[in-house]
Amino acid sequence: MSAIEETAPAHQVFDTILVLDFGSQYSHLIIRRLREFNVYAEMLPCTQKISELPFKPVGVILSGGPYSVYEEGAPHVDPAVFDLNVPVLGICYGMQELAWINGKGVGRGLKREYGPAVVNVVDEACELFKGVNNSQVWMSHNDKLTALPNGFKTVAETGNSPYASIAHTEKPIFGLQFHPEVTHSLQGKILLKNFAVSICKANQNWTMANFIETEIKRIRQLVGPTAEVIGAVSGGVDSTVGAKLMKEAIGDRFHAIYVDNGLMRKNETVTVKKTLDEGLGINLTVVEAGDEFLGKLKGITDPEKKRKIIGNTFIHVFERVAAEIKPKDGSDIEYLLQGTLYPDVIESISFKGPSQTIKTHHNVGGLLEDMKLKLIEPLRELFKDEVRSLGKILGIPDELVWRHPFPGPGIGIRVLGEVTPSQVKIAREADYIFIEEIKAHGLYNQISQAFAALLPVKSVGVVGDQRTYEQVIALRAIETTDFMTADWFVFEAAFLKKVASRIVNEVDGVARVTYDITSKPPATVEWE
Ligand code: GLN
Repeated sequence: MSAIEETAPAHQVFDTILVLDFGSQYSHLIIRRLREFNVYAEMLPCTQKISELPFKPVGVILSGGPYSVYEEGAPHVDPAVFDLNVPVLGICYGMQELAWINGKGVGRGLKREYGPAVVNVVDEACELFKGVNNSQVWMSHNDKLTALPNGFKTVAETGNSPYASIAHTEKPIFGLQFHPEVTHSLQGKILLKNFAVSICKANQNWTMANFIETEIKRIRQLVGPTAEVIGAVSGGVDSTVGAKLMKEAIGDRFHAIYVDNGLMRKNETVTVKKTLDEGLGINLTVVEAGDEFLGKLKGITDPEKKRKIIGNTFIHVFERVAAEIKPKDGSDIEYLLQGTLYPDVIESISFKGPSQTIKTHHNVGGLLEDMKLKLIEPLRELFKDEVRSLGKILGIPDELVWRHPFPGPGIGIRVLGEVTPSQVKIAREADYIFIEEIKAHGLYNQISQAFAALLPVKSVGVVGDQRTYEQVIALRAIETTDFMTADWFVFEAAFLKKVASRIVNEVDGVARVTYDITSKPPATVEWE
């Protein structure tokens, strides 16, 4: 790392493996696996022109994809990728692409192969398979190589795939028919490590400790000696880590704004103040805007309308408060901190089909257009688990680092139907009890997200010989790795009993408690 390079983006500072995405649902996993052994990797769409690459990779991986290389209009890699003179690994579609380029020996297989297979290593000397024995791999393909591509040899085979792995006889070009990036390929990570570390000679220096150092320098250089930055904080891990990083880089020239929309959890505002302001020393402005939000939500029951009103009111309040913050030198605020993470970037650049025009810019919503601010996104290269380790290094308390996600519209979408102050109070109190018990039973970190929703129906109950007619609380707790699919968490009966009894006894206005046992899909995590 030279002094000049240290102020550059990650792909110029760290040895980078480039993943060219052909649209596989597993492409992002390739990057995650590489980073697990501290090799930095980034993804770009397969349509990327090599002459326009923003960095020079130390190796290239061609991902899988849903197309067939022999189809008309199928996506193909820019042939200049081979002029980079770096090792290339093709995975599934990526390997078929290598075969197509070198002799067109790809066709439809007799049957689709999906699921586990056992790989038999034929060429023990191949560096890619160093330390890999005959173990289970994961297949997902219809097409197959009909012949060995020109200049290649067979490295491994399975019962159904005679060319489960191939390698060029002279150049460092390799192909795998199976998916080393999924955990069902038991030794897949060793293969990826062999490729990245032994073959590409990538430096294993991608650690959050190294990232902090280079990122702080980069922010300082980008913002310059006087400009100032604002950003919204929510009390969640991403915005807190972003804010603390800015504080480390430019001190009080970063202004954090926390908007209390009246739809936050119990004690939230007090906790945020304590942690960010007193604890982390972040220059924080707290705005109490609950009345404004609740006033606008009066009479509104449609979930989409509620979300829109909450989102727009947020922008409104944020802009108003931001306008009052004046940099010391009398100029205007120049930058807006945005907590974009790498999955958002992947989503916006991943290859979605030959006819689709690639959107390269992440949509950041209404804020920027109105405010004429330049965007600063210090977390844009990071996955969530990386943000968490970064947070730990930055001294952010564990409680906050491991916090469940909380939606922007907050309790506003957990009170079904009209959102009134009294309804918010019921949902908030019930939620507090639920989470308190989850923590007391040591279950918080096993659950990905948990909350209470208040249903707009009344139900009959009996309390002390008196008939009651009150509302229903629905508890939801889910387990998931990516929030794309989720399953409900299996609590002990005694736990649910205790929570139900506490909520009915301690929260006025609740006659009944239910537990949501629907997975996602078909249900969503939130109720609205
Ligand atoms: N579409 C190709 C096939 O069916 C590649 C599949 C993949 O990359 N997973 O073989």
